[in-house]
Amino acid sequence: MDPIIALMQGVLDIVRDDNSGSPASYIPELAAVEPDRLGFAVVGPRGHVRSVGDDDVEFTIQSISKPFVLAHVLSRIGLDAVMERVGTEPSGEPFNAISLEEGTGKPANPMVNAGAIATTGLVEGGGVDDRTERIVRTLSAFAGRSLHIDESVYRSESTTGDRNRALGHLMRSYGIVDAPVDVALETYFRQCSIAVTVRDLAVMAGTLAFGGLNPLTHERVVEERVARDVLSIMSSCGMYDFSGEWLLRVGLPAKSGVSGGVLAVAPSQFGVAAYSPRLDRHGNSVRGQAIVTALSDRMGMHLLEPH
Ligand code: GLU
Repeated sequence: MDPIIALMQGVLDIVRDDNSGSPASYIPELAAVEPDRLGFAVVGPRGHVRSVGDDDVEFTIQSISKPFVLAHVLSRIGLDAVMERVGTEPSGEPFNAISLEEGTGKPANPMVNAGAIATTGLVEGGGVDDRTERIVRTLSAFAGRSLHIDESVYRSESTTGDRNRALGHLMRSYGIVDAPVDVALETYFRQCSIAVTVRDLAVMAGTLAFGGLNPLTHERVVEERVARDVLSIMSSCGMYDFSGEWLLRVGLPAKSGVSGGVLAVAPSQFGVAAYSPRLDRHGNSVRGQAIVTALSDRMGMHLLEPH
């Protein structure tokens, strides 16, 4: 057996029996998922995607879309223009906190909902369809295949999205969001509803790991500098209000989402992704984190370790 697949199987076996936590339940589509699903994928510099477990099951990307929409916007308007609207400090607060900087209305960073909505508000285009198309195109380029939107998740996100809408209205009152609130929000709900597999997420992580160059298609998706900026923000803010401890213990830029996906990046080495729907109290996948942690430990991938 391929030694990397054997290592990956070994990691899955370690985490398989942990059934702590529970899937997100704020919309019926997420509450109804099969909670035992478990998948894991890795891609290295030669673009060979290795995966084990439920590697062909689609789930919605949710918050893992945030770094990639950020990459899109950074490519179009640059870091300084983005930072006029969104900060880059970890918030230490839950992802959906109604918390904006006193006086300016600036959200803490692009990985919390408020900051992600402000970022999505910066995507160019007339209406929701136009903006969504640009986002789907960018995320597809990161994944190396055409992605689509799960319409029933989108409808539920939109029906239940009043807290996010409230954030949008608050930010528009401060001039942080220029787009009409419904355009920014429906685009944001659509971006969260893009369907991916754990293999797609690994390739997306790999594209960031290799400086914006997709290791599968060899397409340059974003400039090296943009990939570096996105990874910096993922390092400090990617794992909700567990980001500091994650960097301490695992030492890799990462991003998780409420549907149970986690992706992590070992710069110049690997893109990694895991999927398991049960979440801990921070909203991070319990077994997804355990998989990335075990891999980082076994392969000595902590970024701050002397190599
Ligand atoms: N659609 C979710 C929201 O904005 C995404 C949250 C997440 O994955 O953290 O509430």
